[in-house]
Amino acid sequence: APQRAVISYEDVTELREKELAYQKWSQYFEVEQKDCIGYYEYNLTKDTLDSRENTRPQEHFEELGHFTEAVRYVADHLVFEPDRSSYLRVFDRERLLLRYYAGEKEARLEHRRRRRDGSLCWVLGVIQLIADPYTSDIKAFILLKDIDRQKQKKLAQKELMERDTLTGLFNRRTLLKRISAVLEQSEQGRRHALIMLDIDWFKQLNDNYGHQFGDQVLRDISNALKENLRRDDLCGRLGGDEFIIFLDDIAESHAIERRLASICGAVAQTYENKADISCSLGAACYPDDGVRFEDLYRRADLALYQAKELGRNRYVIYQPGMERCGQGEA
Ligand code: GH3
Ligand code: MG
Repeated sequence: APQRAVISYEDVTELREKELAYQKWSQYFEVEQKDCIGYYEYNLTKDTLDSRENTRPQEHFEELGHFTEAVRYVADHLVFEPDRSSYLRVFDRERLLLRYYAGEKEARLEHRRRRRDGSLCWVLGVIQLIADPYTSDIKAFILLKDIDRQKQKKLAQKELMERDTLTGLFNRRTLLKRISAVLEQSEQGRRHALIMLDIDWFKQLNDNYGHQFGDQVLRDISNALKENLRRDDLCGRLGGDEFIIFLDDIAESHAIERRLASICGAVAQTYENKADISCSLGAACYPDDGVRFEDLYRRADLALYQAKELGRNRYVIYQPGMERCGQGEA
């Protein structure tokens, strides 16, 4: 009567992997709980809510019974409008399921939500996608964190890096980046204008009234320019007494002339009766005078040179041939 033993092997890799994914998430959740303002577990496959932990009740409504319903509700009532489309894209059930099957296990979105008092708060939503080890349903564990303080600090730092400290306008680097981006994405048929502005006799102003007064003039002129901008226009200080204004989507040449005259007038009026301060402007148009920042810049600069030559306190729009009568084109 020999003793018999039956040995069988079973591949439990998938099960173990799923269990480990659960464990990993629990560990992550332990650490990340600090600023947690809501935690929800949904069954994405069945589109149902499994459980929730809401540390600030009634502020976040992901607890609605169905995932898709909750997402719709949050998008309509809580998410700040400019962030709504990205919220709906990242929290879309079908997309999340596709993401999981494509091997992506996590989605994150920083977005703004309205608090109950109407103020805005930056929130980080972390969605962990995990297959239930036993049923294989796909679960979405959603952790909401209040990141308002960190985000505000980061944005302020970015703002500081992008701005000219004296005037608060964009600095050279940011201007170049932003204008180039608009030009690259410009649709066919659009026209834009790049304007160079230089204050007349600024050196004399510094010499006569001191550097501090010069600085104040730079600030006052910057404010006058800001007031003269439309929503999508860009304005910045290149350095010294030189500024760039980019007019986005400007239809006809007489509209450009009108804007140039208005800017020139606004600067001249800044110190109307107190001091004789004016500026000269040179403009080049996209796409006629160039499609890249460098070309528009060079031609606007040639036009500016002409404006100075013609007596200052005026604007000149670039015309082909200016290279010969101006400084010459490199
Ligand atoms: P033009 O009419 O030809 O423009 O003559 P201009 O005297 O304005 O000559 P230019 O534009 O070359 O002079 C710019 C001067 O701006 C030179 C420099 O002393 C002064 N400047 C540069 N940066 C600053 C600044 O941050 N503050 C002050 N107050 N002056 C500055
Ligand atoms: Mg000057």
